[in-house]
Amino acid sequence: MTESQAVISAQPAASRGDTPSYLHERGPSFAPKHPLASGPVSTPPHTVDGFVKEFLRELNYGQGVPLSRSSLNDQYLALARTVRGYLTARWLQTATRRRQKPHKMVGYLSAEYLLGRQLDNALLATDLTAIADEALKQCGIDLDALRQAEIEPGLGNGGLGRLAACFIDSLATMDAPCVGYGLRYEYGIFKQTFVDGRQVEVPDNWLSMGGPWEIPHPEMEVPVHFGGHTERYVGEDGRERTRWISGWDVLGIRYNYMVPGYQNGVVNTLRLWRARATRAFDLHIFNAGDYAEAVRSQTFAENISKVLYPEDSTPQGKELRLQQQYFFVACSIYDFLKHTQPTDLDVRDLPERIIFQLNDTHPVIGIPELMRLLMDDYDLPFDEAWAITRQCFAYTCHTLLPEALEVWSVSLMERLLPRHMEIIYMINEVFLEEVREAFPGDELRVRRMSIIGDHPERSVRMAHLATVASVKVNGVAELHSQLLRDKVLSDFSEMWPEKFTNVTNGVTPRRFVRQSNPNLSKLITDTIGVGWVANLDRLRELEVYAEDEEFRAKFREVKALNKERITAVLKRRDGIELPQGHLLDVMVKRLHEYKRQTLKLLHMVTLYEGIISGEVDAATVTPRTVVFGAKAAPGYRMAKETIFLINSVAKVINNDPRVEGKLFIAFPANYNVTLAERLIPAADLSEQISLAGKEASGTGNMKFALNGALTIGTDDGANVEIRQLVGDDNFFLFGMDEPAVAELQAKGYQPTAYYESNERLRRAINLIDSGHFTDGNREAVSTVIGDLLYNDRFLVLADYQSYIDAQAKVEAAYADQEAWSRSAILNVARTGFFSSDRSMRDYIDRIWHIKTGS
Ligand SMILES: *Cc1c(COP(=O)(O)O)cnc(C)c1O
Repeated sequence: MTESQAVISAQPAASRGDTPSYLHERGPSFAPKHPLASGPVSTPPHTVDGFVKEFLRELNYGQGVPLSRSSLNDQYLALARTVRGYLTARWLQTATRRRQKPHKMVGYLSAEYLLGRQLDNALLATDLTAIADEALKQCGIDLDALRQAEIEPGLGNGGLGRLAACFIDSLATMDAPCVGYGLRYEYGIFKQTFVDGRQVEVPDNWLSMGGPWEIPHPEMEVPVHFGGHTERYVGEDGRERTRWISGWDVLGIRYNYMVPGYQNGVVNTLRLWRARATRAFDLHIFNAGDYAEAVRSQTFAENISKVLYPEDSTPQGKELRLQQQYFFVACSIYDFLKHTQPTDLDVRDLPERIIFQLNDTHPVIGIPELMRLLMDDYDLPFDEAWAITRQCFAYTCHTLLPEALEVWSVSLMERLLPRHMEIIYMINEVFLEEVREAFPGDELRVRRMSIIGDHPERSVRMAHLATVASVKVNGVAELHSQLLRDKVLSDFSEMWPEKFTNVTNGVTPRRFVRQSNPNLSKLITDTIGVGWVANLDRLRELEVYAEDEEFRAKFREVKALNKERITAVLKRRDGIELPQGHLLDVMVKRLHEYKRQTLKLLHMVTLYEGIISGEVDAATVTPRTVVFGAKAAPGYRMAKETIFLINSVAKVINNDPRVEGKLFIAFPANYNVTLAERLIPAADLSEQISLAGKEASGTGNMKFALNGALTIGTDDGANVEIRQLVGDDNFFLFGMDEPAVAELQAKGYQPTAYYESNERLRRAINLIDSGHFTDGNREAVSTVIGDLLYNDRFLVLADYQSYIDAQAKVEAAYADQEAWSRSAILNVARTGFFSSDRSMRDYIDRIWHIKTGS
């Protein structure tokens, strides 16, 4: 495309003049006098009869079918829209109230939101579950069947995306002014299937059955530019300015999702962006004459929001990914400035109006984008723009793995975002001057801290840019924040010690206790009354009941019911027949070497080998079922080989009569939020066994503890805080701590030394290596075994014996069911700290300084 054609669309859609402006702009330009103009017409009635009417109306007039001829999907969509109607009324009220009294708000910028199913959450938030259940019954419909018809929006990979979803839930529950901004991927995280034990990815076409929870605004287009070049020109005042002449443009289309607070009448917004071709883009290619080719190449622009990248913790420097990042951030900042702020906004007041929270480095390109707008559109000089920008962002770092720290090559940045690259150089220049002033003569430090790195190629270090520009930088658990300060970003923390802080992650108790564990929730409410769901510290009141025999029996009854439920789920979902009466030992999370699924597998092989070799009397073994759930990034070879190995071991162990009734491995495919909600409440034992210093926080660990599983874990991430809170007696600690890991690695780690000196370990590895689990095929296990013996970057063998010993303690503890229940109850009672409401309170008080309530 030529530059002159591209500029046609460089002006905002709203000013094109070929459609009435009120289609694009809300507010003063369109102010009808009707008394009902400013609010929801009415709130739908909170009664069974009222609900039946709303539901049938959606079915008849929305879906266009009578009840008697409706399909399950018709019914699901009508129900979803009915519930959405109740939410919308609250959403409009919340928006009106916030407009009347605008406060500083949070723009939560996240490339991922792993939302999970919406229906149950919306019913719970509006307190409509019982009403909907009865209303549907009257229509001859089973609510549970409709629940299961929902395809979960998997717009995230794992922990990071799920965290964003928990945070926006908490902010709505706390009535905090927040808009979540992100991408509306047409395809979310892939659906995992197993073929001959190997992971095969299937596209997740989550919108194929309709998207009843979203409200699209195709008329509210946001122009986003890419490529081209920059030009200098001199303004009337004689000052030199810069113009970005883009090479190609796309439009951002707004999709609103409602984020309901828990039974408080508040509904916040999640705004996700979809890419669409501009009309200039269309014209250009259509004029070229090949109509069919033109229609086909339109998808070029629309590819930007097509698919979520499935890499968790190991970003690939793919151009399309950078396009995604810039696209959603540019849309979001534009949306904030032009659509949520008054037209007479003075941008110098921005720090009083907005704080953008950067969920990892994915949205960091927003920093030079805001600078660009302030300098090139709002005409501020660099210094002033920089002073404003530095107050408008805060950065959450999510990792310690060097390979997870995002960098973008300068050449790619120059090609895709030439103006932003110039601005990054300007920022770096003034920043490095500050460094030289603070540390005179320390040029090595200057080079280490530079936003531009030189090796292996010239590239932009996004974590450095984020740190330089942000008011606060936080890690996500105490240990992680400490390691950020002391290691990963130590130069920065020496320069700006007060910039660094910790906010320990959390999970929403609405989804991960109240919704996912109704049996436990009822027991809690029967015991300490209502109110704990939005005030999780109140779980402390359960502590005394750990000593109450009757309560412990009820608590065990809850666990048993939850085990029955997961048994039914796995049978229906995966055809897995879970054995009954076992210790249920669960390891569910993304497959990653640092998380050490192989350590768990070595433990199971050790137990198995002990029995079949006759060394261990099977009668003395605690019956144990291990459940794995894990997706591997499609290009991550070791992770995929590990999945194959787990499936291979499972197949042999599950079919060996010598261990029948003793050992079982279940590996249901496609671990997602829906499965997590069913599985976690049933678990006895939570596996959190990452190498110390590698798991930033973990949030799975919190979900398990809150549902009364005991943790076996290393001194890593939030495990440290879980153990402090529940007490050493109620936590199975094993393995090296972070300083020991650092010491061993400095000394030179030799995995074979552990293999040679530990007989049980050697026998377990040899059994795998012999091809016992792979029909004699030794080649099929060589990748994993070879790595364990000759590389073992995450010290699996070094922690093996300690892990085996801790598992023996687990078995001894499990033998005393009364003592185990006591510990499990104390886990629930003492982990209210891990509510994401508490995390949000920390962000609000220490980073954002926003007001909650009206
Ligand atoms: C909570 C959650 C995660 C994060 O688990 P970790 O054990 O903290 O890695 C990942 N995926 C899903 C579906 C989750 O619900």
